[in-house]
Amino acid sequence: MAAPSVVVIGAGQGGADTAAALRGRGFTGRITLVGDESALPYQRPPLSKGYLKGTTDDEELELRPGSFFTDRDIELVRGDRAVLIDREDQAVSLASGRTLRYDELVLATGSRPRTVPVPGAGLPGVLTLRGIEDAVRLRQPLTGGACLHVVVVGAGFVGLEVAATARELGHTVTVVEATHRAMGRVVTAGTSARVVREHRARGTRVLLQRELVALHEDASGHVREAELNGGERVPADLVVVGVGVLPNTDLAADSGLLVGDGIIVDGRLRTSDPAISAIGDCARFPSPHAGRHIRLESVQNASDQARCVAAAICGEDVAYTAVPWFWSEQYALRLQIAGLTGGHDTTVTIGEPDGDRFSVLCFRDGLLTGAESVNRPADHAIVRRLLAAGTELTPREAGRPGFDLKAFILQPVPTAP
Ligand code: FAD
Repeated sequence: MAAPSVVVIGAGQGGADTAAALRGRGFTGRITLVGDESALPYQRPPLSKGYLKGTTDDEELELRPGSFFTDRDIELVRGDRAVLIDREDQAVSLASGRTLRYDELVLATGSRPRTVPVPGAGLPGVLTLRGIEDAVRLRQPLTGGACLHVVVVGAGFVGLEVAATARELGHTVTVVEATHRAMGRVVTAGTSARVVREHRARGTRVLLQRELVALHEDASGHVREAELNGGERVPADLVVVGVGVLPNTDLAADSGLLVGDGIIVDGRLRTSDPAISAIGDCARFPSPHAGRHIRLESVQNASDQARCVAAAICGEDVAYTAVPWFWSEQYALRLQIAGLTGGHDTTVTIGEPDGDRFSVLCFRDGLLTGAESVNRPADHAIVRRLLAAGTELTPREAGRPGFDLKAFILQPVPTAP
């Protein structure tokens, strides 16, 4: 029997890693990786950090050199878009008119930025950040030499990273966040407050519980001011909207797959059609760590799911159970999150909570569910190991005076009498 043919839609983190993992496992069938962007598959995290600042170049951004794909006989289709899935014939139509037949189809279509529904949202100078072209559009004015008034809408990870980069480049920065704290969906109140303090200490105005209501233009039609609720108008030469993302599910929905804030998959990342899997930002999967279906937007999740799907295509029956982790860099604060810290009922902080190095251990129902570490990479690595091994750590143990996470993981495992 001929080796199956795999088509992967989306040549971002998850898609490129799927193709690489398949060949890494010795898969000999045909692999076609289809991406609608023209660049070689690249990493997105530097787009709001080094790439925006100008310290990371295009080549450093690439996930793998072009030769990686040719050497491994992976057909990389760039700048073409999958527009239709014919599930009966197991074929995908591309915008160029080409048709690709598949035995296994992997959807790794990622997500796109949400926009703000306010008057003036479409003005020149109002930008979002998802891809390399967005980053180039944003980098040009930021590194152009003039001191600009930058307004960042949304104090999530991407917004705050852009704010830090813009400030480091010498611009006047205002962050406007509608809720009462920054990164509220994913970090504890203490960590959120510490990060906001850093931004304020560096000279950024961080406005919490304030909403953007309109954007106003200058005589040339370019954005000039951001109007907030209460009537305040903030000067704005550049507005960066960072209010979260929406999963790219249209292709899946149009072909009748089950979707709902993501393409719904089972524990093995299969969609409602067993020949089609979905991974990364676009997939909503049952997480053993959350105890429900979730969607995660991280490099770790896209990469680990890519490896899981590649294993399944190669005939291994593996459920997706990887421990989630994530990082963010803002000024000298390197924030790393292991596990899922939302929904915790108790926290124990180790290190210097008011300083630059601490970890917040999060517990639910008496057990460790995750940790946020600021400049404590060793804690982060240990918590990932504890969660992966299912080692129990209670808040009582962690709260004991002199508790040492490293000593805890090194302690001998009790043996049965
Ligand atoms: P993507 O990497 O977005 O790839 C999806 C690709 O599919 C895109 O190229 C898209 O254009 C393409 N596509 C969509 N539809 C079609 C179609 N119909 N046909 C063909 N191609 C299609 N994560 C972290 O863990 N740490 C960080 O510090 C971090 N920083 C980030 C900073 C920024 C600015 C951004 C935008 C993201 C950041 N992330 C970070 C998130 C991380 O990059 C994503 O979670 C990850 O890229 C998801 O991978 P993916 O393969 O699911 O989607």
